Amino acid sequence: MSKGYSERLAKLIKQLSKLPGIGPKSAERIVLHMMKQEAHEVEELSKALVDAKTNTFFCEECGNLSENKLCHICADTTRDHSLICVVEQPKDVIAIEKTSGFNGIYHVLLGALSPIDGIGPRELRIEKLIKRVSGGKVEEIILATNPNAEGEATALYITEILKTKTIKITRIARGVPIGSNIEYVDQATLQRAMEARTAM
Ligand SMILES: [Zn+2]
Repeated sequence: MSKGYSERLAKLIKQLSKLPGIGPKSAERIVLHMMKQEAHEVEELSKALVDAKTNTFFCEECGNLSENKLCHICADTTRDHSLICVVEQPKDVIAIEKTSGFNGIYHVLLGALSPIDGIGPRELRIEKLIKRVSGGKVEEIILATNPNAEGEATALYITEILKTKTIKITRIARGVPIGSNIEYVDQATLQRAMEARTAM
């Protein structure tokens, strides 16, 4: 795809096409667009990229994106720290926070079990979840992984691994369409699914 371009442009196209959702064709289109942009516009983009990357971390406790060691949710003492909602990605935290109906804290796995993609329990933040639960302050874990094959497998795995702990383990209700993603579910449905959660 990048044949015929200078080495510089070919390198840039190659780098961009490594990003999720961007194939070689899109990468080529983006690069050509950038070359037509004013130099300061491209500089702003590059600065914003480096600035975000330099100042954003994964919260030490829950794995959510944060500009501090602890994210604002984990650091909030008015929230219920005995209730942990387990999600796959930081974007799921944003979706649930938008419902304003949840006052517990989160645990972000940063993925879901998917053997064909080489994602096993070790690739997820499951060890850290076990540690948090073993701390003794957690009373309930709500499994809010996506209602698709990977999300269900992950929920079952976590239930199995935590079954010896004296905590309540619940799964968000079926109001969330099977096969869908948490982030695309409307706020009212998501809030109902959280409220109508059932025991695993
Ligand atoms: Zn956190």
